[in-house]
Amino acid sequence: MTGTEQLKSAIEHYCRRTGAAAPDPRAALIDMDGTLYDSMPHHAEAWHIMMAEAGIDIPAEEFFLHEGRTGADTINLIMRRAFNRDATPEEIERLYHRKTQLFAAMPPVSPMPGAAEMLRVFEKRGMERVLVTGSAQSTLISRLDTDYPGAFAVNRRITARDVKHGKPAPEPFLAAMRFAGVTPQQSIVVENAPLGVTAGAASGAFTIAVNTGPVPPEALLDAGADILFTSMTECAEALPQLLELCHNN
Ligand code: CA
Repeated sequence: MTGTEQLKSAIEHYCRRTGAAAPDPRAALIDMDGTLYDSMPHHAEAWHIMMAEAGIDIPAEEFFLHEGRTGADTINLIMRRAFNRDATPEEIERLYHRKTQLFAAMPPVSPMPGAAEMLRVFEKRGMERVLVTGSAQSTLISRLDTDYPGAFAVNRRITARDVKHGKPAPEPFLAAMRFAGVTPQQSIVVENAPLGVTAGAASGAFTIAVNTGPVPPEALLDAGADILFTSMTECAEALPQLLELCHNN
């Protein structure tokens, strides 16, 4: 259970960090993998297998720390480390395609427990909801309408294809704010990964981190999270009061 004091100090953290007044939430900018879907273990495994096939041995756990990056950025980072050079466009295409294939062949992933409730809280307050994902993986994006019907209008989805600089750059969240016609101070980011939190915090939005995976909590706090929840269910339970406190501040 998250107490009132903890929620108040999260708002103060936001004001101190940004120099802005208390958040005036009108839009929620919501990550997909590890936030709406319990998909990260499968992604990490698919990356691990694909790279092993390409002759590069990287433990699956490492990919939890790259989470949020676009596929191209992750491949370039690994190629630079292994071979001291960027990947060619052909390599990026081929390797990311293979990773996508491996992911799609795995058992279906489940919606994250608590995520539907979280989306409903934002809806009840009349807030815009925008999907902000570094993924270009159509397997999951196409399931959104089934698992979260009506949650994200087609013109409220930012994917890897819509931005030049993916997370940890703030660009995806800034693009989402433009889509929704809101300012950073009117935005709440919901993220599970350190790089996503870095991007959210840099965009000037109030940034919620939900630790749904094996990442140490400090990694999310150090990335700039204004508040940290240990599950999406806990987040959904605390949200109404958090939004109320923002409203009355
Ligand atoms: Ca994520």
